Amino acid sequence: MRFSRFLLLALLVTTASASAQTPITLSVDLTDAPRKLLRATETIPVTPGPMTLVYPEWIPGEHGPTGPILNSTGIIITTPKGDRVKWERDLVDMFSYHITVPAGVTSLNIKLDFLGTAGAQFSAGGSTSANLALLSWNTLILYPAGTNAADVKVTPTLKIPAGWKYGTALDLTGKPGPDTMAFKTVSLEQLVDSPVLTGRWFREIHLAPDITPQHFLDLAGDGPEDIELSQEHIDEFSRLVRETGALYMSRHYNSYHFLVTLSDQVAHFGLEHHQSSDDRVEEKTFVDDSMFTSNGLLLPHEFTHSWNGKYRRPAGLATPNYQEPMKGDLLWVYEGLTEYLGDVLASRCGIWSPEVYRDRLATIAAYLNDARPGRTWRDLQDTASAAQLLYSAGGPYDNWRRNVDYYDEGELLWLEVDLTIRQKTNGAKSLNDFAAAFEGLGGNTQPKVVPYTFEDIVAGLNAVVPNDWASFLRKRLDSNELHAPEMPGIDALSGYKLTYTDKPNYWSALEEGDRGSINARWSLGFSVGSSGSIGDVIIGGVADKAGLAPEFKIIAVNGRAFSPALLRAAIKDAVGKGPDIELIVENTGYFKTIKLNYHDGEKYPQFVRVDSVPTRMDDILKPMTK
Ligand SMILES: [Zn+2]
Repeated sequence: MRFSRFLLLALLVTTASASAQTPITLSVDLTDAPRKLLRATETIPVTPGPMTLVYPEWIPGEHGPTGPILNSTGIIITTPKGDRVKWERDLVDMFSYHITVPAGVTSLNIKLDFLGTAGAQFSAGGSTSANLALLSWNTLILYPAGTNAADVKVTPTLKIPAGWKYGTALDLTGKPGPDTMAFKTVSLEQLVDSPVLTGRWFREIHLAPDITPQHFLDLAGDGPEDIELSQEHIDEFSRLVRETGALYMSRHYNSYHFLVTLSDQVAHFGLEHHQSSDDRVEEKTFVDDSMFTSNGLLLPHEFTHSWNGKYRRPAGLATPNYQEPMKGDLLWVYEGLTEYLGDVLASRCGIWSPEVYRDRLATIAAYLNDARPGRTWRDLQDTASAAQLLYSAGGPYDNWRRNVDYYDEGELLWLEVDLTIRQKTNGAKSLNDFAAAFEGLGGNTQPKVVPYTFEDIVAGLNAVVPNDWASFLRKRLDSNELHAPEMPGIDALSGYKLTYTDKPNYWSALEEGDRGSINARWSLGFSVGSSGSIGDVIIGGVADKAGLAPEFKIIAVNGRAFSPALLRAAIKDAVGKGPDIELIVENTGYFKTIKLNYHDGEKYPQFVRVDSVPTRMDDILKPMTK
């Protein structure tokens, strides 16, 4: 498998070099972006004869074939004289267009549009509102099949609505014209890696100005008030920049732009790039305290990816172009380690207090340890191997299916690795040493990809402290035990132990929100919305055994019309020798009574201090810079 892949790579490089000389020109017009119409004109060098053009399918960072082909429209190809060149879609590969270049023709013009309508997820999701737009260049380009994205050169220009400002990691060729920018020629790889955020309400903040290379927080909001974040938050993001320098001992970019879309009109997610990140959050995220906390992991996570994911990348995800399928088997490193280090950085830079970090971790740990029975058939490894399917999973019975658990369980795994290194070295070494050596390999560099394998990870850990890391990791990745295999180590080494109390911790309360939904997964074994609609039911839990299911509706609790408060009171009344909880539930128009024989009260996760063990979890969260 590995051999044939390298052979393919070699072939691709050979075919690409022929057309590598003349750049493609790509002009994108965003003046109609507020109407969700994004337009492009492309001029592509060609040679006469049969040719195949392709639309990017496998989008880096999305780990799946998520190229938004459905919203790619208006494709019209013409010769320089204006003669139409007919295209024909491949009958198997929907992302391929076959054409015949007429004799004597050396370039073709392609018009194509992208519908910025919502519906899809990630970068294929909504990216515009009346006053802002995020451009992902891969949505508006066709390129020659069989080429290597690093070898295809593109000269991009961009037109934005009058009066809007913009931010991107791309460099201008000269001074921008009125609302039009001409960027320097880059590889297709760098272009797709360099989105542009533009908007009417736009602000660029220079973070930690004394640090080289430079870092910018580029904000576009639905309204002018959305981008007025406090100096305290600006200082936290500046500290994030400093902390990454101390942790990774390197930077692999010429400058870095956090491109933050603050809008309720766009898809919400983050997508990493070498020199920027596309961070799309709710409109009030930077001006509302609880929204800021609940989204606190996003920027540290995406920024961490510049090292872990973009620079160091699993071999199976380091593909030569956007058509070759990706292999996700090491996503528990790509995403899991990023989740761990990103969350630690969020705490080190002050976005989260240690208490918030601990409460969030307790909530994650409790889900994975005591509400994820799907691990008895699907091991952690398979959540990564099946990543291209699982991003769209979730919802009812998700505890039995599992989804992209390599994020949250990856975080537990890497925390246990960090704790183990600290314990084995009496605190002299930590995962910080691994991060500096592994992510900082070669010191400061230009953006580039240095692939790794499972064996490289094991060797990197052994260089920090000798241990049977291969078995350590495989045991956790391949476990089909009911409970999370990382928790015994975390309970024993962190200085804290996962327990349950009858009060939601800060993070659990944040998750439940203030609309009355109840997360009773760890007590009755289900979650329920304020209207009584059941969300999830834990397979093997109290509610499952009593016959409840997702999407049933609770009509009454102990004979009285359902309310969230009534259900909480009933759980309390049933404690000890109290009565069973009796529910009347509706399932698709039919009603029945269900008795819950449960008497242990409400249960919410919490880490409690273990005095006999050093406070290793607290040590991890201490800032590395003054
Ligand atoms: Zn990520």
